[in-house]
Amino acid sequence: MRRVGLIGWRGMVGSVLVERMRAEGDFALIEPRFFSTSQPGAAGPDIGRATGPLFDAEDFVALAACEILISCQGGDYTDAVHPKLRAAGWRGHWIDAASPLRMKDDSVIILDPVNRPVIEAGLAAGRRDWIGGNCTVSLMLMAFGSLFHAGLVEWVTTMSYQAASGAGAQQMRELLQQMGVLHGAAADLLLDPASAILDIDRRATAAMRDGSMSAEHFGYPLAGSLLPWIDRDLGNGYSREEFKAGSEGNRILGLPGPPVPIDGLCVRVGAMRCHSQAVTIKLTRALPLAEVGEILVHAHPWIRVVPNERTATLARLTPTAVTGTLDIAVGRIRHLAMGGDYLTAFTVGDQLLWGAAEPLRRMLRLLIGR
Ligand code: NAP
Repeated sequence: MRRVGLIGWRGMVGSVLVERMRAEGDFALIEPRFFSTSQPGAAGPDIGRATGPLFDAEDFVALAACEILISCQGGDYTDAVHPKLRAAGWRGHWIDAASPLRMKDDSVIILDPVNRPVIEAGLAAGRRDWIGGNCTVSLMLMAFGSLFHAGLVEWVTTMSYQAASGAGAQQMRELLQQMGVLHGAAADLLLDPASAILDIDRRATAAMRDGSMSAEHFGYPLAGSLLPWIDRDLGNGYSREEFKAGSEGNRILGLPGPPVPIDGLCVRVGAMRCHSQAVTIKLTRALPLAEVGEILVHAHPWIRVVPNERTATLARLTPTAVTGTLDIAVGRIRHLAMGGDYLTAFTVGDQLLWGAAEPLRRMLRLLIGR
């Protein structure tokens, strides 16, 4: 049995990964070793059998004793540990949710329902760094990758509505705390059906502005509001999250020819889980909607095409409906007024599953199955 080290299993991505690995019986196929940056020696996660105390995530001897390492710890950890391990001669497989290695020559961005041939080529070339893509990019390609593969995409704009949990466990907690403060600010008025709505509104707005909401992790109130900037400012008008769409998207696809322009704005909203995206796709030719639907639906088993009708959309094309499932819901598909070669659509996917944990565990399966 391969010894597999897991780092960052307590975080948002890591806990979903452990949950999925348990559900799929992955732990029965490996000898897991759990690491921590903050609590070495403490008990590990419940995986249905004893795992021993946590190893120190900076113990290079314990790390190097693993044939496969899966890190969901974050970019700083990857930057600090991966180069040292490789420099010390470690030749194991490194599977990572964080971004630092994604665009390196030796890495492959993994999203096997979309780019299995790229992964196979990487295996054949002896690659050992397997990096999960940016969650928003992965979800967009899980939804529309088949149109790219069919050569039907001239360019795409994607406008995102990204969940709090995309920023991590602490941010998810912070959103709920902020929601509580917001409710508390107007709770007594809400109990009185005769209270004036503008008084409720004034109390809520004051709570958002007067510093009573904890914003240690987001920096600003998210509950009752939205944050149209995600990740670092690149200084050229782009947020780092937005830069990833075109760069990572094209790398995942691995298509011949010039890169397909993929660009848009990324916005954090008060959803708990699931990133949603509204896309405009400039097709290379006018395409009837029935044909678009046929191509999308045959992409992979997790696609759920939702009819472009009010009831179906509100019931099935929301974070509430999709959270915790592997479904990639795609709906609101119609042509735009600009012509039959302009398509709009909306997609919702759980960014902690296909956008993070699932490609990692599937890569693990691929490696241990060889
Ligand atoms: P996270 O929730 O912040 O977890 C990262 C680490 O923070 C944990 O492993 C844990 O390390 C530590 N931590 C400190 N306080 C914690 C608390 N109260 N609860 C849980 N963990 C706590 O980060 P993440 O969202 O999982 O992201 C990990 C990496 O995956 C990042 O590079 C991120 O960019 C990437 N990613 C995230 C998503 C997403 O949707 N969140 C999607 C794709 C990729 P110790 O146990 O060692 O203390």
